[in-house]
Amino acid sequence: MRTRAVEILLVEDSPGDARLAIEALKDARILNTVHHVIDGVEALAFLRRQPPFADAAPIDIVLLDLNLPRVSGREVLTAIRADHDLRKLPVIALTTSAARGDVDYCYANGVNAFITKPVEFDQFYAAVQSFENFWLAVVALPGD
Ligand SMILES: [Mg+2]
Repeated sequence: MRTRAVEILLVEDSPGDARLAIEALKDARILNTVHHVIDGVEALAFLRRQPPFADAAPIDIVLLDLNLPRVSGREVLTAIRADHDLRKLPVIALTTSAARGDVDYCYANGVNAFITKPVEFDQFYAAVQSFENFWLAVVALPGD
């Protein structure tokens, strides 16, 4: 049994999408803490605990928007998989369209799953809840 909160890093530049994801995860059955960053540079600095994130919590799972400023989600995924300390980290990609190129690229580069961001709140909420049911309740995370 897990006795501590699951630490989630949400990498999302859209304020609306971030708010929806955070709200949905607040209602999750599994205790979790969401840390939110808004681009790929911040995401990698957070995961590597580099300034200004030197005191950041170790992350259990990443929710990664693919369309990000500065460093894209694809680049973040590739960097995580190339990093000895991060490569086992579960990464769930968030994408607005099920763009075939994104899906193929991410699976080829070690993504664990996709959530297609639906337009409607209810759909998005349901998508995040189903993520929660599977990834937080069912799947054994590295380091457990
Ligand atoms: Mg985006």
